[in-house]
Parts: sequence; C-alpha cells; structure tokens
Amino acid sequence: IKEGGENLRSIICCIMGHVDSGKTKLLDCIRGTNVQEGEAGGITQQIGATYFPAKNIRERTRELKADAKLKVPGLLVIDTPGHESFTNLRSRGSSLCDLAILVVDIKHGLEPQTIESLNLLRMRNTEFIIALNKVDRLYGWKTCKNAPIVKAMKQQNKDVTNEFNIRLTDIITQFKEQGLNTEIYYKNKEMGETFSIVPTSAKSGEGVPDLLLWLVQWAQKTMVEKLTYVDEVQCTVLEVKVIEGHGTTIDVVLVNGELHEGDQIVVCGLQGPIVTTIRALLTPHPMKELRVKGTYLHHKEIKAAQGIKITAQGLEHAIAGTSLHVVGPDDDIEAMKESAMEDMESVLSRIDKSGEGVYVQTSTLGSLEALLEFLKTPAVNIPVSGIGIGPVHKKDIMKAGVMLEKKKEYATILAFDVKVTTEARELADEMGVKIFCADIIYQLFNQFQVYIENIKE
Ligand code: GDP
Ligand code: MG
Repeated sequence: IKEGGENLRSIICCIMGHVDSGKTKLLDCIRGTNVQEGEAGGITQQIGATYFPAKNIRERTRELKADAKLKVPGLLVIDTPGHESFTNLRSRGSSLCDLAILVVDIKHGLEPQTIESLNLLRMRNTEFIIALNKVDRLYGWKTCKNAPIVKAMKQQNKDVTNEFNIRLTDIITQFKEQGLNTEIYYKNKEMGETFSIVPTSAKSGEGVPDLLLWLVQWAQKTMVEKLTYVDEVQCTVLEVKVIEGHGTTIDVVLVNGELHEGDQIVVCGLQGPIVTTIRALLTPHPMKELRVKGTYLHHKEIKAAQGIKITAQGLEHAIAGTSLHVVGPDDDIEAMKESAMEDMESVLSRIDKSGEGVYVQTSTLGSLEALLEFLKTPAVNIPVSGIGIGPVHKKDIMKAGVMLEKKKEYATILAFDVKVTTEARELADEMGVKIFCADIIYQLFNQFQVYIENIKE
C-alpha cells in the first residue's frame, strides 16, 4: 500500500500518431537517457510495453519542481509491435489504456493517421495529450538536452520562437477543424475540455519531462478510482504469435489481478471459446540483457500491471483485442465461455442482416470493430455481409464470391492491416473478387469509392 493509503496500480498509456511522427523514438528517448546516465532504475522492457517506475519519472521531472508526489508505482507505456495501432487495444467495449499520447510532427501537422487516431480516442472516450514532436527541427534550434520546454524555449532566438508560434497556431487551427480545442499545456486553463499540447523533441529530450509529469498528474487527479488496484483479473490479449519452441503464444497486458502458472483460462477464439491452462508466464530479460535474444524469464506468478507472454495449448485461433478470463474455483465455466465470446458477439451484431454487402478482413477484433463502425457512418454507408480476422485465405475469397451473383460490386474484400496469401490472390483474380488493402481505414473507403464510381460509368 502506497502513501495516503491508496493501493494504486501503474498507469497504462499508449502512444499513437502518424507513421514517422516519432512514437518509437519518444519511447527510446524516455528509456535511453536514463540507461545512458546509469539511472536505469528498474525500467524494464516488457512484452509490447515498457515499464517506467515512479522513481525514474521523479528523477526525470525534477527540474520542473512540481509537486511530483507520485502515488502510482509507475507508468506502463504500450508500444504494440506490428501495426502500431490503438485499434488493437479493445477490452470489453472500453479502452485498455488509461491515457494516450498523440504524437504530431511539428513540421507536418495533422496527417491521415493522426486524424484516425484522434477519432479512435474519441470513440473510446480516452483522455490524451498531444506531443508536438521534433521541435529540434525548427531552423536554428539550440539544443537543451532533456530540459523542460519553457526553459528550452527561453534559450531560442526570435526566429525560432516565431516559427514555433506560427506552426503551433496553425496546428491548433487544424485540430479545431476536427472539432477539438487545444492549447499549449501550461496555458490550458480548461483541462478536460481543452486538450493540452506539449512540444517535445524525441531526439534531444526537450519537453519530455513536461510530458511525463502531465501524464502522471492528470491520471492521479482524475482517475484514482480507475487506477485503484483490484484482485479481479483484467487482462487483454494484444497479439497472437507463433514463437519457435513455444508454439502459438499470446501477448497480453495484465491490467489488474494476478496470473499464475497452471491457471485455467478462457479466451475468445475465432471458432468459439478456448479453454486452456497457462503453461508458462514469460517476460523479456531486464533492459541490460536485451541482447540475449529469444530467451525469456519464467515466472510462477505475475501481478498487474504488466505485459506478459503466455504459452498454452490451443491458442491458434485466439483473437487479439479480446479479454482473457481466469477460471476461479467457484466459477461456472459455461458462463465464462459465454462472457469470453461477448466481445466477438457485440461486433458480429453490426453485420448487415440483409446478407448483401462487402467482406471485411482485419488484424484484430478491435480494428474490425473500428472499421465496421466507420463503414456504418452515414457519410460512408457501405454494408457488410461477412467478416474475417487474420490473413486473407482462399476460404475468405469463396465467401466474398457469393456476392458475384447477388450484387457484383460487393464481391469485394476490404483488407485492413492483413496479408493476402498468394493462393487467395490467385483465386480472387480467377473469380473476379476485388481485394483492397490498406493500413489506414479511410484509404479503404477511398479505394472502394473510386471502384464503385468506375463501375457506374
Ligand atoms: P514512428 O513511426 O512514429 O515510430 O516514428 P520513429 O520514432 O520511427 O521516427 C521516425 C523518424 O523521425 C526517425 O528517423 C527518427 O529518428 C526521427 N525522429 C523522431 N523524433 C524526432 C525528433 O524529435 N527530432 C528529430 N530531429 N527526429 C526525430
Ligand atoms: Mg515506430
């Protein structure tokens, strides 16, 4: 139990934004400096996440002289590998993350994936902060390594501050066009209604203390209840992966509770609920041993919040983005199977009942949900008749091909963030089924729209 008698778990935060805006670099920056200065202080690389202990955050924010009374044990930042998308992170209709960092490149402003991230954050009602990154790229910027942003700005000449102000104003306007009020964080008097912008450099660390402090303070101020540790297991599957020597494994984020080797678990599967037993609980080695590739630390038990790899039998059809349940001694396993499949059912219920529509294939249940939601909006309005998760196989082409006789233009697969097997592509060509692939949801819409217009002509 921490000071003040509150038993809080770590804050879970994810990083989102357009590709190349600096998401990975920002994480590296928070991590790296500390390691470099010999202050590693317990920072650990986890499965799909990095853990920053409170001690570390305190050191990093010291210069801000804020009341950094940290009540949480630390900050768990999720950096989902593969398609770095928040869409993976669905958990029982709510968000797995307590907070998010939306990274925007100061030289580029709002980009397609920025807007997509923004819309997802709103859909999930997730509070976030904007990191206006790459300030060091303003012409003439004087480096002030890891300095708070106000201090760093004071060192800059007039041209730099002018360029900064012009870009900042421009980006605030762009957010406004998306219906969002934003303001530089130290001027923001309406926290919660107006979103805060923290200028950062992931290269030289300016503004990073401000970012860390804001995350912790905001969470501690507004989410004590949500952050109070509970024993009941709350756990989300991030990724399903085949690992040599381990078979199919799942990478999970344990938000609350404890997992033990030998626990019986229930997971949502494409072909129904999966009931299995935890064979091993694995985490990577601590930071300094990261070079030891392919080996993991084994744990008898693990307490939240953590990123963990679980090995068990029968995980082949597990669906990323769903909840993991632990069967307790008094639990009714049938009821648990049903509740494990709820995530899937709520998404399936969005499919068009008329049976006419396109086929949609995505990487995770979360991205499927987001895509279905998007296709349903009045401005888009594309009906969906079938869905799939994971790579596009021949069987998916067959299913989409059913539309060839009903409504030819719907004999189409909208594939989001998934691969298409060679055989599937060949079959699609043969049958006349169209496949559109993209990593950004609305690009799929654009491609489909162009296609429909061409057909009409
Ligand atoms: P991600 O796709 O959002 O994860 O972006 P990365 O972290 O991979 O960064 C993309 C590129 O931008 C890399 O070449 C980084 O070195 C560079 N970069 C990221 N942040 C900064 C920054 O703050 N300043 C500068 N100068 N370059 C940056
Ligand atoms: Mg990256």
